[in-house]
Amino acid sequence: MHTEDKLKEKCAVFGTYGTAPEAARLAYYSLWAMQHRGQESSGIATSDGEDVHDFSDFGLVANVYREEDFEDLPGHIAIGHNRYSTSGGRDARYNQPFVNQGRSFAFAHNGNLPVTDKLEAYLTKNHVDIDKLNDSGMMAAAIEHYMSQGRTLPEAIKQAFPLFQGIFSAVAMDKSCLVAFRDKHGVRPLSIGKIDGGYIVASETCAFDTIGAEFIRDILPGEMVVVDDKGLSSHQIVKSDLKLDIFEFVYFARPDSMLLGKNVNQVRENLGYELAREHKIKADIIVPVPDSSIPSALGYSKASGIPLELGLVKNRYINRTFIRPTAALRKRDLMLKLNPVKETLKGKDIILVDDSIVRGTTLKQVVAMLKDAGAKKVHLMISSPPVMYPDFYGINTPSQNDLIASKMNNAEICKYMAADSLNYLSYKGMIKATELPESVFCASCFTGVYPSPIGKRAEGITYINSRPVTKPIRYSKRRHLKTPIEALA
Ligand code: AMP
Repeated sequence: MHTEDKLKEKCAVFGTYGTAPEAARLAYYSLWAMQHRGQESSGIATSDGEDVHDFSDFGLVANVYREEDFEDLPGHIAIGHNRYSTSGGRDARYNQPFVNQGRSFAFAHNGNLPVTDKLEAYLTKNHVDIDKLNDSGMMAAAIEHYMSQGRTLPEAIKQAFPLFQGIFSAVAMDKSCLVAFRDKHGVRPLSIGKIDGGYIVASETCAFDTIGAEFIRDILPGEMVVVDDKGLSSHQIVKSDLKLDIFEFVYFARPDSMLLGKNVNQVRENLGYELAREHKIKADIIVPVPDSSIPSALGYSKASGIPLELGLVKNRYINRTFIRPTAALRKRDLMLKLNPVKETLKGKDIILVDDSIVRGTTLKQVVAMLKDAGAKKVHLMISSPPVMYPDFYGINTPSQNDLIASKMNNAEICKYMAADSLNYLSYKGMIKATELPESVFCASCFTGVYPSPIGKRAEGITYINSRPVTKPIRYSKRRHLKTPIEALA
């Protein structure tokens, strides 16, 4: 596989230590809670101190595992993974956790290594065949190679760490320990919690709530946490330079998760407040595109006083449409997924709120749907800035050419969507809504500033308005925005 063709994966990872005999089941429930991070395949590996066991398959968590599979996943240590693949189709080779041939350890990765030069050079020098390995496979192979020289799993990860050029929130286990580690920017989330004397590691804290675990803290960027029979130890492998992907707040994470100490739902509501402050439009109702934009639509409604109506009904039994590999499939999925409530929409001027525009296919169809349903006007309000740059750190926006905002200006997009107006939240407004400093974020899909080198891929990027946004933002502590009712008080 050539580097450029490698799968990009934005996934969920899970780990637990000391939770026998339920380790595999805790993995199962946690992976289910994190289904939104990946729907292509799911897998669990366990250890009972003697052997490493594993099971993975294509499909949703609810369909992948049967009761009898848990009999084959004994032990007090488990790691798990939901995979979200975007290209390359279904190939069982890429299902995770990876278990090495000698079955001495297992590894699972969320993120993406845009540059693999060092890994490739190291593995090739050591006669490891990399032909069929993707970035995650190469990481596992490097760890395995260091272990084959007599190192423990944590030592091997520490040694291999400088070879990993890019983004990783990863978990690994051998027969006797659990390891979790993050790249120096911590672009993808990873947190640690406690449960019944054991430990839990998960991409998102919503998994802790599901299984009754107590959140301890985020694993730090550049940190490796090891849990074994001596307890938990922390090793700061490289200096941390936090750059959490702000798109986790905008769209990707579950609203009940906590990121950097902030509740995702609250931040999304704030995005709606900021949007209402920036763009005041008269309309009869506000309609969110369910589900991801409901909190920001609510924020917009509270701040503007315009009532929120659920004018679009989502079929709960349809997966996210974005992950379908072809445009034709995505279109069919959308018609199945959303249905307008004609009685709510007819004759109304509507503000339609969505969290983001990527390719532009979803909103174009939704606008047409609302107009067909009798809406008089449809004003689009987007609770994030235009997505103009591809993502190389594990989210599915691979080619800049696919991003509508990199090819058209706002007026052109509005016309293309056949909407009556289109407004985006400003970059500054988005940062404000998080109540965190700009410096802690990676916002590469909006700014074109990539904190971790992207190698040759940089050559393919065109800067819109001919420069990336780099000027630091200065702002005072975010004020609480008064709702119209509070303003009257
Ligand atoms: P598009 O039709 O390509 O403009 O898709 C935009 C919609 O997809 C937004 O309304 C988001 O809810 C959702 N979305 C945005 N980014 C992603 C992503 N990386 N993966 C899956 N869905 C996404």
